[in-house]
Amino acid sequence: MPELPEVETIRRELEPVLLGRKIVHAEIGDPRLTRPIAPGELAVALTRQEIASLDRRGKYLLFCFESDKTLAVHLRMTGSFSYRLGGDITIAHERARLELDDGRDLVYRDVRRFGTWRLLETGELESYLAARVGPEPLAPEFTPELLRGRLAGRRTALKAALLDQRTLAGLGNIYVDETLWRAKLHPARPAGSLGKPALVRLHDGIREALEIGIARQGATLRDYALPNGEAGSMQSEFRVYGREGEPCERCGTRIAKTRIAGRGTWFCPRCQRR
Ligand SMILES: [Zn+2]
Repeated sequence: MPELPEVETIRRELEPVLLGRKIVHAEIGDPRLTRPIAPGELAVALTRQEIASLDRRGKYLLFCFESDKTLAVHLRMTGSFSYRLGGDITIAHERARLELDDGRDLVYRDVRRFGTWRLLETGELESYLAARVGPEPLAPEFTPELLRGRLAGRRTALKAALLDQRTLAGLGNIYVDETLWRAKLHPARPAGSLGKPALVRLHDGIREALEIGIARQGATLRDYALPNGEAGSMQSEFRVYGREGEPCERCGTRIAKTRIAGRGTWFCPRCQRR
């Protein structure tokens, strides 16, 4: 499932392709993608929109139009974009296609069909996002103090708190595990129990894990690929995720796997003591 670094990688690659382009025709074939409105209705609304910028908030990709409307796309499990010269060939699991005024098509495919496209009117964007995502961990406003406020008083497991998009935007299963290893924190520790040194480690761990993820253009495990079809390489940087039984690179202890918040969770039992 694409997390912040994967979505940011997609954004960086698509932005130069899409900036200033006008959508001349839209084909949307999946009602699950556009509900509560019908696919045909969204396709009509997108036609003739000109792309002013491509932004990101958490795991949302935001197509901001000259008209001040915004298309908020969430890729969920398996959504992905690719662009290509226009043509009649549909690709496997294609759900939507935006034909651009430079002759290229932006194609959206989604095997599991959990992704969502939502067109927001002027002024709707802020409240839409505010209800769904917390602060951006890579923004300058994100400090250990802000993090303290997000976790204060919470008895839930640290991992569960960080997976909750309203705590912080953009972290998922991979980057939470990688973050907690960097911060030397046990994933089941109560989220509100962190003292100042632990909060600083957690803050720095979040930033590091995400920044390496972006630098490596995301992690390609199964479905994720860049819009140009290339794979990311973050998977070769994993310190704990998916590495059960392998030695911790810091202390040599075997990485353990458990289940927290219903998710497979990897950690070093020695570096990340409870
Ligand atoms: Zn260790």
